[in-house]
Amino acid sequence: MVIAMREGCQKAEVAQVIAQLREYGLEPRIISPGPRVVLGVVEEISRALAQEIIASLADREEVEEINTFESSWKLVSRGFRPETSQVRLGRCQVGGPGVAVVAGPCAVESRAGILEAAAALAPLGAAGLRGGAFKPRTSPYSFRGLGEEGLKHLAEARELTGLPVVTEVLRASEVELVARYADVLQIGARNMQNFALLEAVGEVDRPVLLKRGLMATIKEWLLSAEYILARGNWQVILCERGIRSYDSETRNILDLSAVPVLKQHTHLPVMVDPSHAAGKRELVPALALAAVAAGADAIMVEVHPRPQEAFSDGRQSLSLEEFAAMMPRLEKVAQAVGRGLARP
Ligand code: PEP
Ligand code: MN
Repeated sequence: MVIAMREGCQKAEVAQVIAQLREYGLEPRIISPGPRVVLGVVEEISRALAQEIIASLADREEVEEINTFESSWKLVSRGFRPETSQVRLGRCQVGGPGVAVVAGPCAVESRAGILEAAAALAPLGAAGLRGGAFKPRTSPYSFRGLGEEGLKHLAEARELTGLPVVTEVLRASEVELVARYADVLQIGARNMQNFALLEAVGEVDRPVLLKRGLMATIKEWLLSAEYILARGNWQVILCERGIRSYDSETRNILDLSAVPVLKQHTHLPVMVDPSHAAGKRELVPALALAAVAAGADAIMVEVHPRPQEAFSDGRQSLSLEEFAAMMPRLEKVAQAVGRGLARP
């Protein structure tokens, strides 16, 4: 339930409405502090109780509007916050007018490698640098990242280029460590329903990039985001990265319909990662362009100075030249849909 107060109403009047709701055992939160105060109630309440509450607030002039919504997600719902949320990516905002492009290798492989990638990507228009220091791998024998050393290299790359860093956190116990270095905490597809991890990132003051699970429905994905917001962190970006299907032509199927569906359901900004969806670098630019046309607020692509030497996901990584060729095309599509590229 969302209760919008009339603009200019007194603090005492807001407090009275809160007190009245508490009498029903509810704990309303202030979603928007003003100029028009908006209160939100997330507890499950019966339709009958909702009607009773609406009736009890009916003669309060300071209450302008009451909306009930029946989706199982609440805080992430567009009903809760009609305007798209803007999430910090260094000096840019994801969810603002510009489309932000995050680029970099799958993993941080060496200090020299990540510094080289970052230095090349910044002048090509990237708004953020990606690279995993803690890598979730299907096989326990694959390269699993450099750990804290990799985080230090990422921080150095940021120093050098000004690019904010997006990197994955795998475990709840490592959230604090990763947050010390990263600008955005990535939750990977395999951890989308690691609820302890979701709650842990919900408690830190760092934007979170929540990737869609390999086989997750949009509803499950939104409820995972709800876990983060429910702990107080509203800085969440949703990232579509392809879902499992039967056709092995592509690594996954990029679900572009998720973009407009999410735009209907949630105020959270939407990113698309065509690299993990396609699995083949030659397919990545077309999918990235399509994602921007579909309304994505950001794109994340894997780029490696020498893709054939990459420790992971080389087959789907663009070379620097391919990235450079894609960027002006992305900008044109962004302009065609009334946006541009976000510049750091
Ligand atoms: C990644 O971004 O490198 C990654 C592991 O992605 P996903 O979690 O989507 O598989
Ligand atoms: Mn990867």
